Amino acid sequence: MAKRNPKERVFYGTPVSRGIAFGPIHVSARGFSAPDVYEIPEEGIEREKERLATAFDITRKQLTSLKTKIDEVAGGDEGLVFEAHGMVLADPSLQAKVERAIEDRRQNAEFCFYAVMQTVLEAVRRIVDPYLRERTIDIEDVSQRVLRNFEASQEVIDPDHQHLLVAYELTPSDTASMDRSKLLGFVTEDGSVNSHTAILARALGIPAIVGLGKAVVEITALAPAIIDGYSGKFIVDPSRKTTEHYRLLANRKREQREALEELRDQESTTKDGRHITLSANIEFTHELDLVQDNRAEGVGLFRTEFFLLEAGRTPTENDQTKTYTELARRTGSQPAIIRTLDSGGDKLSAEPLTEPEPNPFLGWRGIRVSLDRPDFFKEQLRAILRASAHGKLGMMFPFISGVSEIRQCQALVKECMNELDLEGSEYDANLEVGAMIEIPSAVLVADEIAQEVDFFSIGTNDLIQYTVAVDRINNRVAKLYRSSHPSVVRMIKMTTDASSRVGIWTGICGEMAADLSLTPLLVGLGVDELSVGPREVAPVRKALMSLDFSECKALAGEALAMPTSAEIYELSHAAARAAYPDLIEEDE
Ligand code: PEP
Ligand code: MG
Repeated sequence: MAKRNPKERVFYGTPVSRGIAFGPIHVSARGFSAPDVYEIPEEGIEREKERLATAFDITRKQLTSLKTKIDEVAGGDEGLVFEAHGMVLADPSLQAKVERAIEDRRQNAEFCFYAVMQTVLEAVRRIVDPYLRERTIDIEDVSQRVLRNFEASQEVIDPDHQHLLVAYELTPSDTASMDRSKLLGFVTEDGSVNSHTAILARALGIPAIVGLGKAVVEITALAPAIIDGYSGKFIVDPSRKTTEHYRLLANRKREQREALEELRDQESTTKDGRHITLSANIEFTHELDLVQDNRAEGVGLFRTEFFLLEAGRTPTENDQTKTYTELARRTGSQPAIIRTLDSGGDKLSAEPLTEPEPNPFLGWRGIRVSLDRPDFFKEQLRAILRASAHGKLGMMFPFISGVSEIRQCQALVKECMNELDLEGSEYDANLEVGAMIEIPSAVLVADEIAQEVDFFSIGTNDLIQYTVAVDRINNRVAKLYRSSHPSVVRMIKMTTDASSRVGIWTGICGEMAADLSLTPLLVGLGVDELSVGPREVAPVRKALMSLDFSECKALAGEALAMPTSAEIYELSHAAARAAYPDLIEEDE
């Protein structure tokens, strides 16, 4: 393809929001850059201070209105990021520092502001904690906004035609203030799946790819391009053949969505009658609309990191109870499983670390943090328990490495129940309590852990990285991150075997659960539940309905004897292609 049309270039990144978009490229100027600098006379100092105050004022107002706007569109906690931005400006010493710089340097206010913010950013960049370091993007965002407000033009100037945006990294304000009718999709050089921008892109339903790397800077404005938000391909100057391929694909995807909608009230049961519970993974309660639209059977994973840590303030026990109660009420008789805080590793940190961690993935993460901060942990447990009186909540613990951690968790749950009894607060004494199985050591002692819990939920995102020793966010080794690795397949089987020996259930809530090529394998390995993103529920339902459990079991038996990931993948992929060819995209 590329040979026939030498101009076509394909860039690969991480897809963070699904969909296909076609259009001309608009390249956004790179982030927070230095404004012009000029000298001011002594009598001009007051005037510069006034300009500074006005720019701060306008910025605060914009942030408030952006928060309102994003609250209206997304309806969840996403708008809180602008509250966090407002906090950067709320620091009274900041304005004073810039005023002093104006007096000392006798330079224009915007340049003095820029210089002061550079020193702030330098200090933040030196912090080793990855969550805090990521906050530099917030500081840059708000700084850039203040700089723009020194001038007449106060917002990003969007082109007046429909376009695909190419940027170094988009700030949350950029994403929120974009004109949706013109923005067809975006790609960024930097960024990660967990960045604010990615989260907002998904909430707003814009196809997006991040982490395309340095190569994107070569891209020319106005060139035609295609964003493939399914595979993470960004194709610039596509050949006629590629364009045709994507037009067909986009049509097919639309037809598929329509066809899948017709199945949405059907059970996710195999042709020979095995029902696999199909639940949804969410991070915000407003996603419950999508969960319900797609008829998921409840929530299999409610990640609480975003809710607890992203807002820039820690919700109290009562705040948490309110959110979990909303979840319980809205899911009603269907289960909703809340995962307790999973901070650290590549995720947000629960608290700033004064000492850097040499290996954050093997460090203070998940349940380790919660068990080291029992007061904080108990607030979450009490909130979940209190909310459980209003629906069918369950809870599970992340990053369990062995039995003693799960026993400590259970002891704290018991302690919270006793406290609530004494206070006369209601809760569901039978709520299901589970362990996430995402560390190989937990698999190896799964028989013992199974004695302590009501269910297992396999976190394949982490289980894969810890089993094959491949960092899940390191692009350099991404090709070694294989969900069909024989070791991973055997780990899943060991887990389902351990759970069925004591009569508890096992689900999968990692991304692998939504990989349609692997559905035959997972069904055959005996999982009882698949928990996937709300938009993945419909295709997975169709896949499950098209399979035969006894055939899948035979397939899994074969896979368990295979020595390489490629063979296992091909075996399952072929079965998937035979059972639901319309859902399986062939590689070009
Ligand atoms: C997992 O590890 O598979 C999982 C579901 O949890 P997270 O991606 O939040 O670590
Ligand atoms: Mg995990």
